[in-house]
Amino acid sequence: MLRLFVPDVYVPSIYAVNAEALVRKGLLGVVTDLDNTLVAWNEPQAPDKLVHWLDDLRDRGLKVCIVSNNKEVRVRPFAEQLNIPALYEAGKPRMRAFMKALEITGTHPRQTAMIGDQLFTDIAGGNRMGMYTILVVPISDKEWVGTRVMRLVERRVLRFIAPSLHRISEGEHQG
Ligand SMILES: [Mg+2]
Repeated sequence: MLRLFVPDVYVPSIYAVNAEALVRKGLLGVVTDLDNTLVAWNEPQAPDKLVHWLDDLRDRGLKVCIVSNNKEVRVRPFAEQLNIPALYEAGKPRMRAFMKALEITGTHPRQTAMIGDQLFTDIAGGNRMGMYTILVVPISDKEWVGTRVMRLVERRVLRFIAPSLHRISEGEHQG
């Protein structure tokens, strides 16, 4: 049961996720959460570093899609400035959200990475689909109140699964 919450890798930030390493693993698509994964919660601006990271994924031929449980007004303008397809109010961890995203990337779950900062939505959902799951440390501790409540439970689960976590540090690249 707890296996559902164990990501394939645990990284300090998306910047430890390297496009070349993903391609070497045979991955063709990247589905990613938005808030506290790509930028801080409700942060409207995409920093240059993020733009370059995403360009690198796309330059290597990876298909990228944002999947967020946040609202359209938050998700759509953010994704549009980056020119990336996005699903809002996705209802992760429900399968439907992931299936829709995989339709957009046009990739098989096994060929697709799921990146996110939450165990119960991003990682559990991605694992259930059979995706390659990458847990990132949340960018900020500012969050939606519902998320903050879930973090209390999440912290206990994280502690429990700690011995099985494959941690990658910044600078070292996953792959
Ligand atoms: Mg998030």
